[in-house]
Amino acid sequence: MAGLTAALCLAERGLQPLVLEGDPAYFGGRLSEKPAAAFAYPENQPAEVFPAEHGIHGFWSQYRNLKGILARHDIRPKFVQANRQEWVHGTEKRVKRAELGRVVRRTWWPAPFHYGALWFRPSFWRMVGWRDWLSIPAVLGSLVVAVGIDPLAEYKKMEGLTLADFCKGWPPAIRAFVASLARSGLSAHPEDVPLSGFIAFLRFYSLLRRDSQGFEYLAGDSGRAVIDPMVDRIRELGGQVRADCRVSHLDRLSGDNGGWVVHLADGSLRTASSVILACDATGTRRIMLDSPDTRELAANFHWPRGMETIVVRLWFAGQPHPKAEAGILSGNFAADNFFWLHRFQDRFQEWHRRTGQSALEAHVYGPPELISEPDKVILEKVTADFGRIYPALKDKVIHRTIQRNSATHTLFAIGTLAEHLGIRTPWPGLFCCGDWVRHPSPALFLERACLTGIEAANAVLLTRGQSPFPLEQHTRPELLSRLVGAYVRMMRSSIRGSR
Ligand SMILES: Cc1cc2nc3c(=O)[nH]c(=O)nc-3n(C[C@H](O)[C@H](O)[C@H](O)COP(=O)(O)OP(=O)(O)OC[C@H]3O[C@@H](n4cnc5c(N)ncnc54)[C@H](O)[C@@H]3O)c2cc1C
Repeated sequence: MAGLTAALCLAERGLQPLVLEGDPAYFGGRLSEKPAAAFAYPENQPAEVFPAEHGIHGFWSQYRNLKGILARHDIRPKFVQANRQEWVHGTEKRVKRAELGRVVRRTWWPAPFHYGALWFRPSFWRMVGWRDWLSIPAVLGSLVVAVGIDPLAEYKKMEGLTLADFCKGWPPAIRAFVASLARSGLSAHPEDVPLSGFIAFLRFYSLLRRDSQGFEYLAGDSGRAVIDPMVDRIRELGGQVRADCRVSHLDRLSGDNGGWVVHLADGSLRTASSVILACDATGTRRIMLDSPDTRELAANFHWPRGMETIVVRLWFAGQPHPKAEAGILSGNFAADNFFWLHRFQDRFQEWHRRTGQSALEAHVYGPPELISEPDKVILEKVTADFGRIYPALKDKVIHRTIQRNSATHTLFAIGTLAEHLGIRTPWPGLFCCGDWVRHPSPALFLERACLTGIEAANAVLLTRGQSPFPLEQHTRPELLSRLVGAYVRMMRSSIRGSR
Protein backbone atom coordinates (compact mmCIF):
# COMPACT_ATOMS: atom_id res chain seq x y z
CA MET A 1 0.00 0.00 0.00
CA ALA A 2 2.76 2.47 0.94
CA GLY A 3 4.82 1.86 -2.20
CA LEU A 4 1.88 1.79 -4.59
CA THR A 5 0.47 4.99 -3.04
CA ALA A 6 3.81 6.77 -3.47
CA ALA A 7 4.05 5.55 -7.07
CA LEU A 8 0.48 6.61 -7.83
CA CYS A 9 1.14 10.15 -6.54
CA LEU A 10 4.39 10.42 -8.53
CA ALA A 11 2.80 9.03 -11.69
CA GLU A 12 -0.06 11.52 -11.30
CA ARG A 13 2.55 14.28 -11.55
CA GLY A 14 4.20 12.73 -14.62
CA LEU A 15 7.34 11.37 -12.92
CA GLN A 16 7.21 7.79 -14.35
CA PRO A 17 8.05 5.82 -11.19
CA LEU A 18 9.39 2.25 -11.32
CA VAL A 19 8.02 -0.09 -8.58
CA LEU A 20 10.21 -3.12 -7.79
CA GLU A 21 8.19 -5.75 -5.90
CA GLY A 22 10.11 -8.62 -4.34
CA ASP A 23 7.26 -11.15 -4.43
CA PRO A 24 7.50 -13.44 -7.48
CA ALA A 25 3.79 -13.28 -8.30
CA TYR A 26 1.68 -10.86 -6.29
CA PHE A 27 1.71 -7.09 -5.75
CA GLY A 28 0.28 -5.52 -2.60
CA GLY A 29 2.31 -7.03 0.26
CA ARG A 30 -0.03 -7.65 3.18
CA LEU A 31 -3.02 -6.62 1.06
CA SER A 32 -2.15 -8.99 -1.78
CA GLU A 33 -4.02 -11.78 -3.43
CA LYS A 34 -3.03 -15.39 -2.60
CA PRO A 35 -3.60 -18.65 -4.52
CA ALA A 36 -7.31 -19.43 -4.78
CA ALA A 37 -8.98 -22.39 -3.00
CA ALA A 38 -10.95 -24.91 -5.06
CA PHE A 39 -13.01 -27.93 -4.01
CA ALA A 40 -16.10 -29.85 -5.05
CA TYR A 41 -18.94 -30.51 -2.60
CA PRO A 42 -20.61 -32.96 -2.95
CA GLU A 43 -17.72 -34.64 -4.69
CA ASN A 44 -19.58 -35.29 -7.93
CA GLN A 45 -20.31 -31.56 -8.41
CA PRO A 46 -18.09 -29.15 -10.42
CA ALA A 47 -15.32 -27.53 -8.34
CA GLU A 48 -16.08 -24.17 -6.72
CA VAL A 49 -13.22 -21.64 -6.79
CA PHE A 50 -12.82 -19.03 -4.05
CA PRO A 51 -10.41 -16.07 -4.17
CA ALA A 52 -7.90 -15.82 -1.33
CA GLU A 53 -5.90 -13.02 0.20
CA HIS A 54 -3.27 -12.31 2.84
CA GLY A 55 -6.08 -11.80 5.39
CA ILE A 56 -9.46 -10.04 5.62
CA HIS A 57 -8.98 -6.30 6.20
CA GLY A 58 -11.19 -3.69 7.82
CA PHE A 59 -11.15 -0.13 6.44
CA TRP A 60 -11.89 2.15 9.39
CA SER A 61 -13.89 5.37 9.25
CA GLN A 62 -10.72 7.39 9.88
CA TYR A 63 -8.94 6.03 6.78
CA ARG A 64 -9.42 9.35 5.06
CA ASN A 65 -6.21 9.47 3.03
CA LEU A 66 -6.59 5.94 1.74
CA LYS A 67 -10.23 6.32 0.76
CA GLY A 68 -9.44 9.80 -0.62
CA ILE A 69 -6.70 8.69 -3.00
CA LEU A 70 -8.76 5.73 -4.27
CA ALA A 71 -11.71 8.08 -4.89
CA ARG A 72 -9.48 10.66 -6.64
CA HIS A 73 -8.36 8.00 -9.11
CA ASP A 74 -11.88 6.67 -9.50
CA ILE A 75 -10.87 3.23 -8.19
CA ARG A 76 -12.79 3.28 -4.90
CA PRO A 77 -13.81 -0.36 -4.31
CA LYS A 78 -17.24 -1.54 -3.17
CA PHE A 79 -17.31 -1.55 0.62
CA VAL A 80 -19.74 -3.31 2.98
CA GLN A 81 -20.45 -1.61 6.31
CA ALA A 82 -19.46 -3.75 9.31
CA ASN A 83 -22.41 -4.15 11.61
CA ARG A 84 -21.99 -6.35 14.67
CA GLN A 85 -18.89 -7.80 16.30
CA GLU A 86 -18.95 -9.99 19.36
CA TRP A 87 -16.55 -10.91 22.11
CA VAL A 88 -16.49 -14.68 22.69
CA HIS A 89 -14.77 -16.05 25.79
CA GLY A 90 -14.03 -19.77 26.21
CA THR A 91 -13.32 -21.67 29.42
CA GLU A 92 -13.12 -25.39 30.20
CA LYS A 93 -16.80 -25.38 31.12
CA ARG A 94 -18.50 -23.05 28.69
CA VAL A 95 -18.46 -20.43 25.97
CA LYS A 96 -19.79 -16.96 26.77
CA ARG A 97 -20.46 -14.15 24.30
CA ALA A 98 -21.50 -10.50 24.24
CA GLU A 99 -22.04 -8.07 21.41
CA LEU A 100 -19.63 -5.15 21.55
CA GLY A 101 -19.10 -3.21 18.36
CA ARG A 102 -22.47 -1.50 17.93
CA VAL A 103 -23.03 -0.97 21.65
CA VAL A 104 -19.93 1.17 22.09
CA ARG A 105 -20.33 2.90 18.72
CA ARG A 106 -23.96 3.91 19.15
CA THR A 107 -24.14 4.80 22.83
CA TRP A 108 -25.09 8.26 24.10
CA TRP A 109 -22.14 8.14 26.49
CA PRO A 110 -19.53 10.55 25.11
CA ALA A 111 -15.95 9.41 24.46
CA PRO A 112 -13.73 8.59 26.30
CA PHE A 113 -16.41 7.16 28.65
CA HIS A 114 -18.37 5.31 25.95
CA TYR A 115 -17.18 1.90 27.17
CA GLY A 116 -19.41 2.60 30.20
CA ALA A 117 -22.37 1.60 28.00
CA LEU A 118 -21.19 -2.02 28.28
CA TRP A 119 -21.87 -2.07 32.02
CA PHE A 120 -25.59 -1.66 31.32
CA ARG A 121 -25.79 -4.66 28.97
CA PRO A 122 -27.00 -7.92 30.56
CA SER A 123 -24.97 -9.90 27.98
CA PHE A 124 -21.84 -8.13 29.23
CA TRP A 125 -22.69 -8.91 32.89
CA ARG A 126 -22.48 -12.61 32.04
CA MET A 127 -18.91 -12.10 30.84
CA VAL A 128 -17.59 -10.41 33.98
CA GLY A 129 -17.37 -11.24 37.67
CA TRP A 130 -17.77 -9.19 40.84
CA ARG A 131 -14.07 -8.32 40.87
CA ASP A 132 -14.49 -6.65 37.47
CA TRP A 133 -17.19 -4.38 38.88
CA LEU A 134 -14.93 -3.33 41.74
CA SER A 135 -12.12 -2.55 39.33
CA ILE A 136 -14.05 0.04 37.29
CA PRO A 137 -12.21 3.02 38.89
CA ALA A 138 -8.79 1.48 38.14
CA VAL A 139 -9.69 0.70 34.53
CA LEU A 140 -11.20 4.15 34.05
CA GLY A 141 -8.07 5.74 35.53
CA SER A 142 -5.81 3.95 33.03
CA LEU A 143 -8.03 4.99 30.12
CA VAL A 144 -8.05 8.61 31.26
CA VAL A 145 -4.24 8.59 31.37
CA ALA A 146 -4.18 7.18 27.82
CA VAL A 147 -6.36 10.11 26.64
CA GLY A 148 -3.65 12.52 27.77
CA ILE A 149 -0.64 10.75 26.19
CA ASP A 150 -0.10 10.81 22.45
CA PRO A 151 2.93 8.53 21.97
CA LEU A 152 3.08 9.27 18.23
CA ALA A 153 3.08 13.06 18.45
CA GLU A 154 5.36 13.03 21.54
CA TYR A 155 7.66 10.22 20.29
CA LYS A 156 7.10 8.51 23.62
CA LYS A 157 8.89 5.21 23.50
CA MET A 158 7.78 4.01 26.99
CA GLU A 159 10.88 1.81 27.04
CA GLY A 160 10.36 -1.66 28.42
CA LEU A 161 6.64 -1.17 29.19
CA THR A 162 4.12 -3.58 27.67
CA LEU A 163 0.36 -3.92 27.63
CA ALA A 164 0.70 -6.50 30.40
CA ASP A 165 2.12 -3.73 32.64
CA PHE A 166 -0.78 -1.41 31.73
CA CYS A 167 -3.31 -4.07 32.78
CA LYS A 168 -1.53 -5.11 35.97
CA GLY A 169 -4.03 -5.42 38.83
CA TRP A 170 -7.00 -5.52 36.50
CA PRO A 171 -9.45 -8.39 37.11
CA PRO A 172 -9.39 -11.46 34.86
CA ALA A 173 -12.38 -10.81 32.58
CA ILE A 174 -11.43 -7.23 31.70
CA ARG A 175 -7.81 -8.31 31.21
CA ALA A 176 -8.92 -11.13 28.91
CA PHE A 177 -11.05 -8.69 26.91
CA VAL A 178 -8.23 -6.14 26.47
CA ALA A 179 -5.80 -8.95 25.61
CA SER A 180 -8.08 -10.27 22.88
CA LEU A 181 -8.60 -6.74 21.55
CA ALA A 182 -4.82 -6.28 21.41
CA ARG A 183 -4.25 -9.68 19.78
CA SER A 184 -6.88 -8.98 17.19
CA GLY A 185 -5.73 -5.42 16.51
CA LEU A 186 -1.98 -5.65 17.04
CA SER A 187 -1.42 -9.36 16.37
CA ALA A 188 0.49 -10.10 19.55
CA HIS A 189 -0.01 -11.17 23.13
CA PRO A 190 -0.01 -8.57 25.97
CA GLU A 191 3.53 -9.41 27.20
CA ASP A 192 4.80 -8.65 23.66
CA VAL A 193 2.71 -5.57 22.85
CA PRO A 194 4.75 -2.38 23.47
CA LEU A 195 2.64 -0.03 25.59
CA SER A 196 3.35 2.94 23.28
CA GLY A 197 1.92 0.96 20.34
CA PHE A 198 -1.15 -0.13 22.30
CA ILE A 199 -2.00 3.40 23.45
CA ALA A 200 -1.59 4.70 19.87
CA PHE A 201 -3.87 1.89 18.67
CA LEU A 202 -6.51 2.50 21.34
CA ARG A 203 -6.57 6.24 20.66
CA PHE A 204 -6.89 5.95 16.88
CA TYR A 205 -9.47 3.17 16.70
CA SER A 206 -11.60 3.72 19.75
CA LEU A 207 -10.76 5.87 22.74
CA LEU A 208 -11.17 9.43 21.48
CA ARG A 209 -14.32 9.14 19.35
CA ARG A 210 -17.26 6.74 19.38
CA ASP A 211 -17.51 6.68 15.59
CA SER A 212 -13.81 5.86 15.13
CA GLN A 213 -14.74 2.20 15.75
CA GLY A 214 -16.87 2.10 12.60
CA PHE A 215 -15.35 0.16 9.73
CA GLU A 216 -16.08 -1.45 6.38
CA TYR A 217 -15.10 -4.69 4.65
CA LEU A 218 -14.22 -5.03 1.00
CA ALA A 219 -16.95 -6.75 -1.02
CA GLY A 220 -14.24 -8.39 -3.14
CA ASP A 221 -10.86 -9.87 -2.28
CA SER A 222 -8.24 -7.22 -1.54
CA GLY A 223 -5.97 -8.10 -4.47
CA ARG A 224 -8.66 -7.65 -7.09
CA ALA A 225 -10.61 -4.92 -5.31
CA VAL A 226 -7.76 -2.56 -4.36
CA ILE A 227 -4.31 -3.65 -5.52
CA ASP A 228 -4.99 -4.52 -9.18
CA PRO A 229 -6.79 -1.22 -9.86
CA MET A 230 -3.91 0.72 -8.22
CA VAL A 231 -1.33 -1.12 -10.34
CA ASP A 232 -3.39 -0.57 -13.52
CA ARG A 233 -3.74 3.12 -12.75
CA ILE A 234 0.02 3.58 -12.15
CA ARG A 235 0.71 1.91 -15.51
CA GLU A 236 -1.96 4.03 -17.24
CA LEU A 237 -0.20 7.15 -15.94
CA GLY A 238 3.18 6.05 -17.32
CA GLY A 239 4.70 4.26 -14.31
CA GLN A 240 6.03 0.70 -14.27
CA VAL A 241 5.27 -1.99 -11.68
CA ARG A 242 7.35 -5.20 -11.78
CA ALA A 243 7.12 -8.37 -9.70
CA ASP A 244 9.97 -10.74 -8.84
CA CYS A 245 12.44 -7.87 -8.37
CA ARG A 246 13.84 -8.42 -4.88
CA VAL A 247 16.23 -5.60 -3.90
CA SER A 248 19.38 -6.80 -2.17
CA HIS A 249 21.21 -3.55 -1.41
CA LEU A 250 21.88 0.06 -2.44
CA ASP A 251 25.00 2.02 -3.35
CA ARG A 252 25.15 5.76 -3.24
CA LEU A 253 26.39 7.44 -6.41
CA SER A 254 29.12 9.98 -5.95
CA GLY A 255 29.11 13.33 -7.76
CA ASP A 256 27.04 16.50 -7.59
CA ASN A 257 23.80 14.98 -8.80
CA GLY A 258 23.91 12.11 -6.30
CA GLY A 259 21.44 9.30 -6.73
CA TRP A 260 21.48 5.58 -5.98
CA VAL A 261 22.31 2.26 -7.58
CA VAL A 262 19.65 -0.31 -6.67
CA HIS A 263 20.99 -3.88 -6.74
CA LEU A 264 18.54 -6.72 -7.30
CA ALA A 265 18.94 -10.24 -5.93
CA ASP A 266 19.32 -11.61 -9.50
CA GLY A 267 22.47 -9.49 -9.95
CA SER A 268 20.90 -6.81 -12.18
CA LEU A 269 20.85 -3.15 -11.18
CA ARG A 270 18.98 0.13 -11.74
CA THR A 271 20.03 3.70 -11.07
CA ALA A 272 17.72 6.42 -9.81
CA SER A 273 18.09 9.95 -8.55
CA SER A 274 15.50 9.26 -5.80
CA VAL A 275 14.71 5.95 -4.12
CA ILE A 276 11.72 5.27 -1.84
CA LEU A 277 12.08 2.18 0.34
CA ALA A 278 8.50 0.99 0.88
CA CYS A 279 9.25 -2.44 2.34
CA ASP A 280 8.00 -3.77 5.66
CA ALA A 281 10.31 -2.95 8.61
CA THR A 282 12.17 -6.27 8.38
CA GLY A 283 12.76 -5.89 4.63
CA THR A 284 13.96 -2.28 4.95
CA ARG A 285 16.29 -3.23 7.80
CA ARG A 286 17.83 -6.03 5.74
CA ILE A 287 18.47 -3.74 2.74
CA MET A 288 19.94 -0.98 4.91
CA LEU A 289 22.21 -3.35 6.84
CA ASP A 290 23.46 -4.84 3.55
CA SER A 291 24.17 -1.42 1.98
CA PRO A 292 27.64 0.02 2.69
CA ASP A 293 26.45 3.66 3.01
CA THR A 294 23.56 3.01 5.41
CA ARG A 295 24.85 0.02 7.39
CA GLU A 296 26.44 1.83 10.30
CA LEU A 297 23.54 4.12 11.23
CA ALA A 298 20.90 1.47 10.47
CA ALA A 299 22.37 -0.84 13.08
CA ASN A 300 21.23 1.62 15.77
CA PHE A 301 17.77 2.47 14.43
CA HIS A 302 14.52 1.34 16.05
CA TRP A 303 13.08 -1.53 13.96
CA PRO A 304 9.63 -2.84 14.93
CA ARG A 305 9.40 -6.62 15.07
CA GLY A 306 7.88 -8.52 12.14
CA MET A 307 5.16 -10.97 13.18
CA GLU A 308 4.17 -14.20 11.46
CA THR A 309 0.40 -14.61 11.06
CA ILE A 310 -1.77 -17.62 10.20
CA VAL A 311 -5.05 -17.46 8.32
CA VAL A 312 -7.42 -20.45 8.45
CA ARG A 313 -10.54 -20.75 6.29
CA LEU A 314 -13.33 -23.20 7.07
CA TRP A 315 -16.23 -24.02 4.74
CA PHE A 316 -19.31 -25.56 6.42
CA ALA A 317 -22.29 -27.56 5.20
CA GLY A 318 -25.07 -25.43 6.64
CA GLN A 319 -24.95 -22.11 8.40
CA PRO A 320 -25.22 -20.75 11.91
CA HIS A 321 -27.48 -17.76 12.59
CA PRO A 322 -25.31 -15.43 14.64
CA LYS A 323 -26.19 -11.75 14.70
CA ALA A 324 -22.53 -10.75 14.50
CA GLU A 325 -20.59 -11.13 11.26
CA ALA A 326 -17.24 -11.09 13.09
CA GLY A 327 -15.77 -11.45 16.54
CA ILE A 328 -12.73 -11.47 18.80
CA LEU A 329 -11.86 -14.50 20.93
CA SER A 330 -10.37 -14.83 24.40
CA GLY A 331 -9.83 -17.61 26.91
CA ASN A 332 -8.85 -21.07 25.75
CA PHE A 333 -9.33 -20.70 21.98
CA ALA A 334 -6.47 -21.14 19.50
CA ALA A 335 -7.86 -18.55 17.04
CA ASP A 336 -7.85 -14.84 17.88
CA ASN A 337 -10.63 -13.48 15.68
CA PHE A 338 -13.00 -14.51 12.90
CA PHE A 339 -15.10 -13.19 10.04
CA TRP A 340 -18.11 -14.85 8.36
CA LEU A 341 -17.09 -14.42 4.71
CA HIS A 342 -20.54 -15.20 3.27
CA ARG A 343 -21.91 -12.20 5.17
CA PHE A 344 -19.93 -9.61 3.18
CA GLN A 345 -17.75 -10.98 0.35
CA ASP A 346 -19.52 -11.20 -3.02
CA ARG A 347 -18.17 -14.58 -4.14
CA PHE A 348 -18.99 -16.25 -0.82
CA GLN A 349 -22.41 -14.57 -0.66
CA GLU A 350 -23.29 -15.87 -4.12
CA TRP A 351 -22.26 -19.41 -3.13
CA HIS A 352 -24.15 -19.16 0.17
CA ARG A 353 -27.36 -18.03 -1.57
CA ARG A 354 -27.11 -20.91 -4.05
CA THR A 355 -26.17 -23.69 -1.62
CA GLY A 356 -27.09 -22.53 1.91
CA GLN A 357 -23.52 -23.24 3.02
CA SER A 358 -21.23 -20.89 4.91
CA ALA A 359 -17.54 -19.96 5.24
CA LEU A 360 -15.42 -18.36 7.90
CA GLU A 361 -11.90 -16.90 8.13
CA ALA A 362 -10.01 -17.07 11.43
CA HIS A 363 -6.69 -15.41 12.28
CA VAL A 364 -4.09 -16.93 14.59
CA TYR A 365 -1.55 -14.44 15.97
CA GLY A 366 0.39 -16.59 18.41
CA PRO A 367 1.78 -17.42 20.88
CA PRO A 368 5.00 -18.69 19.20
CA GLU A 369 4.48 -22.25 20.58
CA LEU A 370 1.16 -22.40 18.71
CA ILE A 371 2.51 -20.86 15.49
CA SER A 372 5.31 -23.45 15.46
CA GLU A 373 2.84 -26.38 15.57
CA PRO A 374 2.36 -28.31 12.29
CA ASP A 375 -0.45 -27.14 9.97
CA LYS A 376 -2.54 -30.19 10.75
CA VAL A 377 -2.52 -29.48 14.49
CA ILE A 378 -3.47 -25.82 14.01
CA LEU A 379 -6.28 -26.75 11.63
CA GLU A 380 -7.65 -29.25 14.16
CA LYS A 381 -7.49 -26.72 16.99
CA VAL A 382 -9.20 -23.95 15.03
CA THR A 383 -11.86 -26.36 13.75
CA ALA A 384 -12.49 -27.45 17.33
CA ASP A 385 -12.81 -23.78 18.41
CA PHE A 386 -15.68 -23.17 16.01
CA GLY A 387 -17.32 -26.49 16.84
CA ARG A 388 -17.53 -25.19 20.43
CA ILE A 389 -18.67 -21.67 19.50
CA TYR A 390 -21.29 -22.90 16.99
CA PRO A 391 -22.29 -26.44 18.14
CA ALA A 392 -24.66 -26.74 15.13
CA LEU A 393 -21.58 -26.72 12.89
CA LYS A 394 -19.63 -29.39 14.76
CA ASP A 395 -18.43 -32.03 12.26
CA LYS A 396 -19.89 -29.99 9.37
CA VAL A 397 -16.58 -28.79 7.88
CA ILE A 398 -16.50 -29.57 4.15
CA HIS A 399 -13.21 -27.91 3.27
CA ARG A 400 -10.43 -26.06 5.07
CA THR A 401 -7.24 -24.19 4.20
CA ILE A 402 -4.33 -22.83 6.19
CA GLN A 403 -2.03 -20.06 5.03
CA ARG A 404 1.14 -18.97 6.77
CA ASN A 405 2.05 -15.33 6.16
CA SER A 406 5.75 -14.56 6.48
CA ALA A 407 6.94 -12.52 9.46
CA THR A 408 6.33 -9.11 7.87
CA HIS A 409 3.42 -7.87 9.95
CA THR A 410 4.41 -4.83 12.03
CA LEU A 411 4.31 -5.12 15.80
CA PHE A 412 3.72 -1.42 16.15
CA ALA A 413 6.08 0.37 18.53
CA ILE A 414 7.41 3.88 18.75
CA GLY A 415 11.07 4.82 18.89
CA THR A 416 12.54 8.10 20.03
CA LEU A 417 12.77 10.93 17.51
CA ALA A 418 16.46 10.23 16.90
CA GLU A 419 16.21 6.48 16.30
CA HIS A 420 12.86 6.02 14.51
CA LEU A 421 13.24 6.35 10.73
CA GLY A 422 10.95 8.91 9.16
CA ILE A 423 10.05 9.72 5.55
CA ARG A 424 13.32 11.61 5.02
CA THR A 425 16.35 9.53 5.90
CA PRO A 426 19.82 10.84 6.82
CA TRP A 427 20.86 10.16 3.17
CA PRO A 428 19.96 12.57 0.34
CA GLY A 429 17.65 11.07 -2.26
CA LEU A 430 16.61 8.12 -0.03
CA PHE A 431 13.11 8.11 1.49
CA CYS A 432 11.01 5.61 3.46
CA CYS A 433 7.33 4.83 3.80
CA GLY A 434 5.28 2.04 5.36
CA ASP A 435 3.02 1.31 8.31
CA TRP A 436 5.98 1.37 10.72
CA VAL A 437 7.57 4.66 9.58
CA ARG A 438 7.71 7.68 11.90
CA HIS A 439 5.10 10.37 11.31
CA PRO A 440 3.21 12.45 13.91
CA SER A 441 -0.18 11.50 12.43
CA PRO A 442 -2.27 9.21 14.68
CA ALA A 443 -2.96 6.85 11.76
CA LEU A 444 -2.01 3.17 11.93
CA PHE A 445 -1.76 0.19 9.55
CA LEU A 446 -3.27 0.69 6.07
CA GLU A 447 -3.94 4.38 6.65
CA ARG A 448 -0.40 4.92 7.96
CA ALA A 449 1.05 3.03 4.98
CA CYS A 450 -0.95 5.23 2.60
CA LEU A 451 -0.26 8.49 4.40
CA THR A 452 3.50 7.88 4.61
CA GLY A 453 3.39 6.86 0.92
CA ILE A 454 1.87 10.25 0.05
CA GLU A 455 4.49 12.00 2.19
CA ALA A 456 7.36 10.08 0.56
CA ALA A 457 6.05 11.12 -2.87
CA ASN A 458 5.78 14.70 -1.56
CA ALA A 459 9.42 14.62 -0.45
CA VAL A 460 10.48 13.58 -3.98
CA LEU A 461 8.18 16.17 -5.59
CA LEU A 462 9.76 18.91 -3.48
CA THR A 463 13.26 17.97 -4.74
CA ARG A 464 11.89 18.66 -8.24
CA GLY A 465 10.27 21.94 -7.33
CA GLN A 466 6.72 20.53 -7.52
CA SER A 467 4.03 21.25 -4.94
CA PRO A 468 3.14 18.49 -2.46
CA PHE A 469 -0.21 16.69 -2.16
CA PRO A 470 -2.13 17.91 0.90
CA LEU A 471 -2.88 15.29 3.57
CA GLU A 472 -6.45 14.67 4.73
CA GLN A 473 -6.72 15.47 8.44
CA HIS A 474 -8.20 12.90 10.80
CA THR A 475 -11.34 13.90 12.69
CA ARG A 476 -10.70 15.66 16.01
CA PRO A 477 -11.39 13.86 19.30
CA GLU A 478 -14.83 14.45 20.80
CA LEU A 479 -15.15 17.53 23.05
CA LEU A 480 -15.00 15.61 26.32
CA SER A 481 -11.93 13.65 25.14
CA ARG A 482 -10.23 16.95 24.30
CA LEU A 483 -11.01 18.36 27.75
CA VAL A 484 -9.88 15.20 29.57
CA GLY A 485 -6.73 15.10 27.42
CA ALA A 486 -5.90 18.75 28.20
CA TYR A 487 -6.41 18.10 31.93
CA VAL A 488 -4.12 15.04 31.93
CA ARG A 489 -1.43 16.90 29.97
CA MET A 490 -1.62 19.77 32.48
CA MET A 491 -1.21 17.31 35.37
CA ARG A 492 1.73 15.66 33.62
CA SER A 493 3.55 18.95 33.08
CA SER A 494 2.92 20.09 36.66
CA ILE A 495 4.33 16.76 37.94
CA ARG A 496 7.37 17.21 35.64
CA GLY A 497 7.74 20.82 36.84
CA SER A 498 7.69 19.86 40.51
CA ARG A 499 10.50 17.29 40.06
C1 LIG B 1 -3.70 -11.00 8.75
C2 LIG B 1 -3.62 -9.48 8.68
C3 LIG B 1 -4.78 -8.72 8.84
C4 LIG B 1 -4.71 -7.33 8.79
N1 LIG B 1 -5.85 -6.59 8.95
C5 LIG B 1 -5.81 -5.26 8.85
C6 LIG B 1 -6.98 -4.48 8.93
O1 LIG B 1 -8.07 -5.01 9.15
N2 LIG B 1 -6.89 -3.12 8.76
C7 LIG B 1 -5.68 -2.51 8.53
O2 LIG B 1 -5.65 -1.29 8.38
N3 LIG B 1 -4.56 -3.23 8.45
C8 LIG B 1 -4.58 -4.56 8.61
N4 LIG B 1 -3.42 -5.29 8.51
C9 LIG B 1 -2.17 -4.54 8.34
C10 LIG B 1 -2.00 -4.03 6.90
O3 LIG B 1 -2.05 -5.14 6.03
C11 LIG B 1 -0.66 -3.33 6.79
O4 LIG B 1 -0.59 -2.29 7.75
C12 LIG B 1 -0.42 -2.71 5.42
O5 LIG B 1 -0.76 -3.56 4.38
C13 LIG B 1 1.06 -2.36 5.34
O6 LIG B 1 1.38 -1.88 4.09
P1 LIG B 1 2.89 -1.52 3.77
O7 LIG B 1 2.92 -1.02 2.39
O8 LIG B 1 3.43 -0.64 4.85
O9 LIG B 1 3.71 -2.89 3.92
P2 LIG B 1 3.58 -4.28 3.14
O10 LIG B 1 2.19 -4.54 2.73
O11 LIG B 1 4.24 -5.29 4.00
O12 LIG B 1 4.43 -4.04 1.83
C14 LIG B 1 5.82 -4.15 1.80
C15 LIG B 1 6.21 -4.63 0.42
O13 LIG B 1 7.63 -4.63 0.31
C16 LIG B 1 8.00 -5.79 -0.40
N5 LIG B 1 9.42 -6.08 -0.10
C17 LIG B 1 9.95 -6.40 1.10
N6 LIG B 1 11.29 -6.56 0.97
C18 LIG B 1 11.59 -6.32 -0.33
C19 LIG B 1 12.80 -6.32 -1.08
N7 LIG B 1 13.98 -6.60 -0.53
N8 LIG B 1 12.73 -6.02 -2.42
C20 LIG B 1 11.55 -5.71 -3.00
N9 LIG B 1 10.37 -5.70 -2.34
C21 LIG B 1 10.40 -6.00 -1.02
C22 LIG B 1 7.03 -6.85 0.09
O14 LIG B 1 6.99 -7.96 -0.79
C23 LIG B 1 5.74 -6.06 0.11
O15 LIG B 1 5.07 -6.07 -1.10
C24 LIG B 1 -3.46 -6.68 8.58
C25 LIG B 1 -2.31 -7.45 8.40
C26 LIG B 1 -2.38 -8.83 8.45
C27 LIG B 1 -1.11 -9.63 8.28
